[in-house]
Amino acid sequence: MARVYNFGAGPSTLPLAVLERAREELTDWRGTGMSVMEISHRDKAFISVAEQAEADLREIMAIPRNYKVLFVQGGATSQFAMVPMNLLRGKRRANYVLTGAWSKRAIGEARLFCEAAIAAAPEDDNFTTIPRREDWEVDPDAAYLHYTSNETIDGVEFQDVPDAGALPLVADMSSNILSRCIDVSRFGLIYAGAQKNLGPAGITIVIVRDDLIGDTLPGTPSMLDYAKHAANGSMLNTPPTFNWYLVGLVLQWIKEQGGLAAIEAHNKRKAEKLYTAIDASSLYRNRIDPGCRSRMNVPFVLADDSLSGSFLTKAEEVGLTALKGHRSVGGMRASIYNAMSEEGVDVLIAFMDEFERSHG
Ligand code: PMP
Repeated sequence: MARVYNFGAGPSTLPLAVLERAREELTDWRGTGMSVMEISHRDKAFISVAEQAEADLREIMAIPRNYKVLFVQGGATSQFAMVPMNLLRGKRRANYVLTGAWSKRAIGEARLFCEAAIAAAPEDDNFTTIPRREDWEVDPDAAYLHYTSNETIDGVEFQDVPDAGALPLVADMSSNILSRCIDVSRFGLIYAGAQKNLGPAGITIVIVRDDLIGDTLPGTPSMLDYAKHAANGSMLNTPPTFNWYLVGLVLQWIKEQGGLAAIEAHNKRKAEKLYTAIDASSLYRNRIDPGCRSRMNVPFVLADDSLSGSFLTKAEEVGLTALKGHRSVGGMRASIYNAMSEEGVDVLIAFMDEFERSHG
């Protein structure tokens, strides 16, 4: 099988070293003669995997002690509901920043539980920029301020953590967690589905300041209650043990790469190269405000859209896969998460260049 570079937005490429290690251990994990997925989640051996994953995440992100780290199910989509169910704490209103398709989804779900007031939104329907912080209208009496740190579909990313004043700041980091250094103490809560930078789909990470939990909406089911997950070591029921194990392997891989500073530098180089190539060409175009361009998801369109089909087919032929843009926006999208090598980006740029020359 020839080398494949997977530019999919999620589930997405995982570090090869992680997959190889999982393969090696698949049928005989730690000399048990069994797979890790066949062992009880209450078994000491599995508990050590779970604890190590949490310890590694805490170390990599420098998570302060007064934050709980939860491993839950239901994807980031469940968090769209769990956040208001847990963090409204008697209030009826929360602030939301609208920057793209995923924040829109978060707002829609929050509206099942509260008034999700739009603190900021773009002037038109195109999500190509992030409104300046000075122009946001944030209600200081609302329960929290929610934003999506990277819009996976639109390719818009916050380059800094926005100021939330005294309000708990809540971030959907599904598509850029662990891609850059952030100061966790600025947040009330961070959540992320795993299937981009953390591991396979089916497990979701929540990092939450401990004073914010324990006061849920009346009728909140146990599985949707952060405090109950925290009190039970994220084992309120049978957790997705194999996914948890894989997340643990990805975290070890991040440490081996030199941690977040090294990962961030790598991601910055990859994204700069790709945007530079797009900007220099007359065939490809990225329409995002350069100050808000995502380092993780790089959408682009072809000046002549009739070439798009042939672009994708030819890319696939040379092992550059999953470059089709999201069905709602069309065009192309190169997702270049942590596990995408710089070499993969170089190969993509060379292919784009060649395609442009042959169709110029
Ligand atoms: N938020 C963002 C930023 C996402 O990219 C995604 C999925 N691509 C989601 C939320 C939804 O995640 P899930 O499918 O895990 O529910």
